[in-house]
Amino acid sequence: MSNHHPILNTICLLLSILLITACTQQPPAMTTKQASTQASPPSHSSLTTKEKPQIFEFTYHHFKENENVKASAVTRDIHKFEADLQYLKAQGYNNVTHKQIIDHFDKGAPLPEKPYAIRFDDGYLSNYTLAFPIIKKYNAKVAICIIGVSVGVHENITPHFSWQQAREMVDSGLISIQNHSYDLHKIDGSGVGQFEGESLEDYKTRLRTDFTKLNDLIYQNVGNKPYLFAYPNGVVNDTAEQIARECGFTFTTARPNILSTERDYDKYNLTRLDFFSYTKVDELIKTAQ
Ligand SMILES: [Zn+2]
Repeated sequence: MSNHHPILNTICLLLSILLITACTQQPPAMTTKQASTQASPPSHSSLTTKEKPQIFEFTYHHFKENENVKASAVTRDIHKFEADLQYLKAQGYNNVTHKQIIDHFDKGAPLPEKPYAIRFDDGYLSNYTLAFPIIKKYNAKVAICIIGVSVGVHENITPHFSWQQAREMVDSGLISIQNHSYDLHKIDGSGVGQFEGESLEDYKTRLRTDFTKLNDLIYQNVGNKPYLFAYPNGVVNDTAEQIARECGFTFTTARPNILSTERDYDKYNLTRLDFFSYTKVDELIKTAQ
């Protein structure tokens, strides 16, 4: 994030967490306990963090038609999104899919110079109505991490795109639909956290059931098998990571600055950067380098 307005950034980050976590309307069912920090992190790769090349993952959420529309801090003017793509191209950056990054690290497949990936979180309707035309115009590649229970829902929450719209985007060959949990994206911020009093086995079963339910729905409705899991509410722990791997995710990711640098949940070590309404792409990159 930019260092230029630390207080503003903090306020916007807090606001955006509140707004992002407002994606689902269910009240908190139970309180959660803190993510476990006892077990060893899963070992993923022989490369140390320092040896891995810096690859950016730019994250967006919701879009608005122009600068004058009042919206949350995570809502980006669609013209700015287009300008972001133009800027990155002009600077020699190459947009790749997350799959290309996985294949590069796991199988040695080549990557272009200065690669970067784009992720949209939550599955808002504006991804389809406003961003999809721009994605087609620039041949951009985007992974959209959806919340299962919110697909096609327009009432009481910021509208989310439907399965049919998801299918149309996937059929373009430019977009993949990925997993942001079926129903763990909670207003109380609990995410994949373990409930008080929940046994480890029950907890694991609950996560497995949730992850698999959305994976199956995505495959049935749009035909792609998710390989990317974006942790809802930025909550992550070793048990959740273990279950995510069991459920076939080769790539897990959370919000910037939430994963501890001492832990290696993200085996590809992407530099995750969030775009807010006020973000300047050149400053964002500069502060991350
Ligand atoms: Zn989210």
